[in-house]
Amino acid sequence: MVVKKVEAPPDQMDWRECSECQRLAPPRSWHCKVCKVCVLKRDHHCLYTGCCIGHRNHRFFMGFIFYLFVGSVYALVYNSIYMWIIQGHIYCNWLTLLKLTCPMLLLVTGSFWVNMYLLFYSLNVLALAYGVLLLGYHVPIVLRGGVSADRTKESKQKYDRGVYQNLRSVFGDRMHIAWLSPLIRSDLPDDGYHWTASRNRKD
Ligand SMILES: [Zn+2]
Ligand SMILES: [Zn+2]
Repeated sequence: MVVKKVEAPPDQMDWRECSECQRLAPPRSWHCKVCKVCVLKRDHHCLYTGCCIGHRNHRFFMGFIFYLFVGSVYALVYNSIYMWIIQGHIYCNWLTLLKLTCPMLLLVTGSFWVNMYLLFYSLNVLALAYGVLLLGYHVPIVLRGGVSADRTKESKQKYDRGVYQNLRSVFGDRMHIAWLSPLIRSDLPDDGYHWTASRNRKD
C-alpha cells in the first residue's frame, strides 16, 4: 500500500512527483492527507476501517460491504418474523409506526424492552439501507475497473479492461471463491505500480 522511495524509472514517464511525500508516485496512486502517504490505486479513505482502501485491500472492503448487506438482510428477516408475526399483538399498531419514524418517542412512551427491540429494528433497517447504498455505489466502479476518485468520463473508462479482468484486478486470481472469505488467498495479477490504459491496449 505504501509507496516506496524510488529512483526515476526511465520506462515510467507517467509517474508523478507527490508534493507531500516528495517522492515519485506511480500512476493511479493518490496522496491521503489522513494516512500521510501515497496509496497504490487509491479508492478512498474509509472512516469505518480507519485506513485507505487501495490496491491491496479493495477486495476486503468489497467483502465488508457485501457481508454488511447479507447480514442486514438475514437479521431483518428474523427480526421481522419475530416482531410482526410472533409478537404481532404487541407491535402491529400505529404507535409502533410513529416510534419507528420518530425515534425520540421511544424515550417517552412504551416499556423498556419493547422500545429496545424497536430501536434495534431501526438500526437494522438503517444498516440494510447503508449496505444497499454502498454496494450500489462501489459495485459499478469495480465492474468498470475504476476507483471512486475518477470524476471525468475519460478517467472512468481509462483502465477498463473488461468485466472479467476488472474483477480479477480486485479479487485476484481465485476471484471465484475469494469473495467467500477474507482468509482465502488470492494473488492479485497487477503489482499496483504498472498500469496500462485500456485505450492503449486497443491500439
Ligand atoms: Zn504522497
Ligand atoms: Zn487514508
